[in-house]
Amino acid sequence: MGGRKKASKGRPSRTQPAPAPLPPPTAKGRAARTPPAPPPPPPPSSGAARAAALLAHYPEDERRFLETIAYALPAAASGRAAREAAAAHARRCLERFQCCVFHDALSEGDVAALLGECAAHEKVSAIGEREAAKRSGTRLFNCPCQRGPSCAFDGWRSDVARAVVAAAAPWRDVVAALGFGHVARVEVVTSHAGCRHQGWHVDGARGVTALFALVDVDARRGPTELDFAAPFGDVATGAKVKGGVPGAPARVFAGALPRGSLLLFNANVSHRGTANLSRGDRPVLVLDCSPPCGASDAGFLCEGA
Ligand SMILES: [Zn+2]
Repeated sequence: MGGRKKASKGRPSRTQPAPAPLPPPTAKGRAARTPPAPPPPPPPSSGAARAAALLAHYPEDERRFLETIAYALPAAASGRAAREAAAAHARRCLERFQCCVFHDALSEGDVAALLGECAAHEKVSAIGEREAAKRSGTRLFNCPCQRGPSCAFDGWRSDVARAVVAAAAPWRDVVAALGFGHVARVEVVTSHAGCRHQGWHVDGARGVTALFALVDVDARRGPTELDFAAPFGDVATGAKVKGGVPGAPARVFAGALPRGSLLLFNANVSHRGTANLSRGDRPVLVLDCSPPCGASDAGFLCEGA
């Protein structure tokens, strides 16, 4: 879209003898007379910019908190120093606030591939309360420790998700450093349009839940809400906390998470997916990261894995 504007503006100066190779017949001379409609602003490219837009109307304390715990990964997060800085930030936030956010943890290509993958799998392996609650889950990985009456497979069902989880990234370093390098489950959880609040729950006694947004999740699209007022075990030490996280709002993340951003939170903090009041689905990729289980994959987020 941006190219059009350039072409029409440059035109007057180019009315010279050799105008042959000008293929796009779009604007022509008309553009000079009719004031062109202002071009729509380009979609904000970075997760941080999209988060700012999604949070524009948020209560000040919530918005500031979400900005405090968020880290915008550099475009090429491959540099060791960048990766270490990001991991250090995440660890500080997790230890202090029990949660953190990485923007741009997934590329647009990753997001598109994951959405395609789960569309392909949904019919076969949808689990959970589909009807009234309008929430569905598509399990893409199970550690052998998850096998049981309600779970008949282990291993990967998605090469795309496997590649995303396996790619070197600061979140892996942090989760492994906290001792939760065992990924027990990977699934796409979709709260469909009209889905009601999920019940409050914790994901485990110890661990970190990693939640990647696959669409822009604003307040109406069923964001995850953490309840810091309820008692929980500290993410780093496991020590009981009666509730309340200094510096954090009582409840957060009824906030926003742009697509491609990753929320890491203490799996023992009470949380829920909120109602999806929008017209679109809210798919998120969710990983349960926990202490080693002793099964074959134990520690597979450890460095070098
Ligand atoms: Zn396991």
